[in-house]
Amino acid sequence: MIRLNDITAEVLSYHPKADIQLIEKAYVYSAKVHRGQIRLSGEPYLSHPLEAAHILAKLKMDVICIAAGLLHDTIEDTVADLEEIREVFGEEVATIVDGVTKISKMHLVNRKERQAENVRKMILAMSSDIRVILVKLADRLHNMRTLGFQPEEKQRQIASETLDIYSPLAGRMGINWIKSDLEDLCLFYLEPEIYARIKNETARRRNEIQKLMAEVRAELTRKLEEVNIQATVKSRQKHFYSIYKKMVAQDLNVDQVYDILAFRVIVNTVRECYEVLGHIHSLWKPVQRRFKDYVSMPKANMYQSLHSTVIGPLGERMEVQIRTWDMDKVAESGIAAHWKYKEGGGARKTDEKQFAWLKQLLDWQRDLKDPVEFLDTVKMDLFPDEVYVFTPTGEIKAFPKGATVVDFAYSIHSEIGEKCMGAKVNGKMVPLKYQLRNGNIVEIITSPKQHPSKDWLEFVKTSRAKTKIRHWIKQEERDQGLSLGKSILEKALQKERVTLSNIFRSDQIKAIAEDLSFQSTEELVAQIGFGKVSARQVVGRLKPKLGIQEDRSRSLMSKMVGRLKRPKGQGVRVHGVSDMLIHFANCCHPLPGEKVVGFITRGRGITIHQEKCRHIQNAEPDRLVDVSWEPIESDVYPAKLRVTSVERKGVLADISAIISQRDANIIHAEIKTTVDHKGIAFFTIEVDGYAQLQNIMGAIKKVKNVMRVERI
Ligand code: MN
Repeated sequence: MIRLNDITAEVLSYHPKADIQLIEKAYVYSAKVHRGQIRLSGEPYLSHPLEAAHILAKLKMDVICIAAGLLHDTIEDTVADLEEIREVFGEEVATIVDGVTKISKMHLVNRKERQAENVRKMILAMSSDIRVILVKLADRLHNMRTLGFQPEEKQRQIASETLDIYSPLAGRMGINWIKSDLEDLCLFYLEPEIYARIKNETARRRNEIQKLMAEVRAELTRKLEEVNIQATVKSRQKHFYSIYKKMVAQDLNVDQVYDILAFRVIVNTVRECYEVLGHIHSLWKPVQRRFKDYVSMPKANMYQSLHSTVIGPLGERMEVQIRTWDMDKVAESGIAAHWKYKEGGGARKTDEKQFAWLKQLLDWQRDLKDPVEFLDTVKMDLFPDEVYVFTPTGEIKAFPKGATVVDFAYSIHSEIGEKCMGAKVNGKMVPLKYQLRNGNIVEIITSPKQHPSKDWLEFVKTSRAKTKIRHWIKQEERDQGLSLGKSILEKALQKERVTLSNIFRSDQIKAIAEDLSFQSTEELVAQIGFGKVSARQVVGRLKPKLGIQEDRSRSLMSKMVGRLKRPKGQGVRVHGVSDMLIHFANCCHPLPGEKVVGFITRGRGITIHQEKCRHIQNAEPDRLVDVSWEPIESDVYPAKLRVTSVERKGVLADISAIISQRDANIIHAEIKTTVDHKGIAFFTIEVDGYAQLQNIMGAIKKVKNVMRVERI
């Protein structure tokens, strides 16, 4: 078992002035709260945070990070709480421990390929401090090393989660040794037979491989000396998982995988990279199409190297990487260097920005002696433009930052979007405008009565939601145009004693629609609603077709009664008709309560004029419609009342009657009986102001048996 001394000695080796006391304090605290806990291995629980902290020390982390490593399981598994950790160890340690705890609590179900990337991004997005991920990786690495003590099903579950989420994260952080270790451990638990075969095969060939490595290095070194190029040659055997991937990709048996050796040549200049490549190709035959020039075409993460595969002395394939010392630093400097490496994915704008920042960070890092200083700068919003949330089933969805509940609803299904009236986020009700935050669990609440509105366009962020809402509104306007058009046409037809429904499906009216170049009767009628076609024109054309004689003696003025109301502030609606279709005349500016008349304009719906406005005195009578104001609706405010009465019988009914007689709405009513048989009634009512409330309370007081009325 790792001891505290091993950790502090390691830290002092790379950071002689480190504040070891913080680590010691974290050790004592962790030992205290984990006391008595035993791991499945039979070891005291404390061994786990110690091992994790030791891994972090191997990564040359600062004392804050190592202290957090020692404390990483205290919130989840012990009586300790975050407040106490903040008090004792400070804000930074607490933030890291909190971040690690949050990731551990995430239920990473449903890890399909597409999902895995979202989970990884979500973990990154939730970790505003890179050290959170490093602690989590150290935690996972030690758990993987001791996975053998878990039941078999758990082993498989944890191993596949590690393979999907954590080893790629380690790769992205540029910590390749953690990535390889995790992958090999996963292979051991997920494909034990293949793991054993690879292990046996490489063991069987160990001598051969060692000999080959030495031989190739010697030959290469001799050649480079001969041509006078100063170079360092490194060799390694590929890790098991990498051999396994090759077996799967090329459908090979383990003894058919020859390219298990890799060499790296590091030189001083870019020109030497290409020279060395030429010399290698002259020594060993290159494999066609395996050459990649990442020197002139760096990877998105700024990785640079020449890659080639050659046939070695024994006919084995060998991978060769050639690069300069500068390039090697970028490739090896851990944490951030491989950050941008996206498995199979292209670079995007936000990533580009991200990378510019990281590259700068790397440049600083090279000049820094003190790792603490470096890590202080490694705090950032990793995905500033995205937010990751869960569905109730644990699926993760990505949204642009600022996306709302409505965006989420539309991302599930357009019908869910249209009927969305709110959501529960982490179990609590939130309004439609609520902006999603990382890690939210979002459950949409729908209502059959709900429908989209133009206001939604002001806060939704995704183009999908915007398009769907606009489409709905357009459709709705068309429907309203159709319904208004039907009313107008119906009125016009009444004078001819024709019922619209009788002829709506007729060929006669369809023929008129075609004459006027509309695609359908519906479209013709909708255009009447929009005022683009006059009902008189249509009726005029219909009459000969229906065999009706002209009758000029009659007034053609249509009598259609709509109801207008002016909602608070601006905007006016006719009952059942979109406000898009109603305009107030600029000539006479009618006010609520004044006598008004509607004028069907061509192409702009209905304009409301004062009845005496001179502009409509000579208007075509059939373009005028009778309209009247709907009672003016004023603002209402909720008020809560408590009414105590001697007895409950009948009181509720009496009070309700009083409230409605005084034109107030009851939103909610409830009555309770006390032990001494008094009735206590609670009302939430809507009033237009204090005067109305006073009036109502006064009237309730006068009700028989009522003792007290209070506003609450
Ligand atoms: Mn742990």
